[in-house]
Amino acid sequence: MRDVVVVGSGPSGYTAAIYAARAGLEPVVIAGAVTAGGALVQTTEVENFPGFPDGVMGPDLMDSMQRQAERFGADLVFDDAVELDLTGPVKVVRDRTGRTYRSRAVVLATGSGYRRLDVPGEERLTGHGVSWCATCDGFFFRGKDVVVVGGGDSAVEEATFLTRFASSVTLVHRRDTLRASKIMAERAAADPRITFAWNSEVVEVLGEEKVEAVTLRDSRSGEQRRLETAGVFIAIGHDPRSELLKGQVRTDSEGYVLVDSPTTHTNLPGVFACGDLVDSRYRQAITASGTGCAAALDAERYLTSLADARLTGDAVQAAVG
Ligand code: NAP
Repeated sequence: MRDVVVVGSGPSGYTAAIYAARAGLEPVVIAGAVTAGGALVQTTEVENFPGFPDGVMGPDLMDSMQRQAERFGADLVFDDAVELDLTGPVKVVRDRTGRTYRSRAVVLATGSGYRRLDVPGEERLTGHGVSWCATCDGFFFRGKDVVVVGGGDSAVEEATFLTRFASSVTLVHRRDTLRASKIMAERAAADPRITFAWNSEVVEVLGEEKVEAVTLRDSRSGEQRRLETAGVFIAIGHDPRSELLKGQVRTDSEGYVLVDSPTTHTNLPGVFACGDLVDSRYRQAITASGTGCAAALDAERYLTSLADARLTGDAVQAAVG
């Protein structure tokens, strides 16, 4: 029986683990089998995480957080949580290997997953030209034409990164202005290697064995055209990873876990949630870290209140005889 299990890694999970471990709670962190460290592991340079005036590489930042958590005694498990039972006073988490973890408190920090276009060809050609990670796959597109879909910071970052390899990068966005932050949008606009397909939606990814082209639809006129490309990098945002929590933890209509703001309390006693799993608004590494810290502090207070209740119960028992 543990005090705390943290489900998920990334800035929120690792920060929760650092705080919980430093408080002597010896947390277990179910960090993920493939995606330990979360989305930042697949990014390049992070320029706006405070404390790094010259920027820091996303994977290095997550590696540092992981080591910081381990230094204070967090027990990291590189596996996926596949089943959670959070409703009772003893929380039960099972991982894919079949191990079971029991705890008094759980911090949910499962973050978010890549959103899909849901168009024909996308799934079939995933790994054959369709990708969600320029850092992972960009190398394979040396000297080729590629398309990036999306208009946010991720899309701009992916497009900028891909200019290192690709002969051309076309950023396909469904509107005529980017959602990306001003500094990143200006950088992309000034980059001669990036061209923009405005007001354009990808309606199909074409190719037999690998991606050969996409069909674009003009979102104003409805006209369709074919754009030859070897790669389609999809960067259209993320959805919260809350499938495992269904029927237990309350979420909003989009699947974000509802917490009793400004705390990280969910509707279930002893269950706390943080990071992108709860946050549809800010979704920054630093805000995820902030709520991860809050979740660990909330869990610590909850455990103290349980211990106090137990002591009071024992005292009453002793007085009654
Ligand atoms: P985002 O800001 O939500 O942007 C998603 C983009 O995809 C939007 O432009 C959206 O179009 C488009 N989109 C959504 N669904 C679509 C669909 N079905 N078909 C076509 N286009 C679709 O997501 P993000 O870019 O992943 O960024 C997430 C958060 O991380 C943001 O807060 C961002 O600032 C942060 N971030 C920061 C950095 C950095 O600072 N280095 C890097 C990456 C991400 P509309 O604009 O029309 O809605």
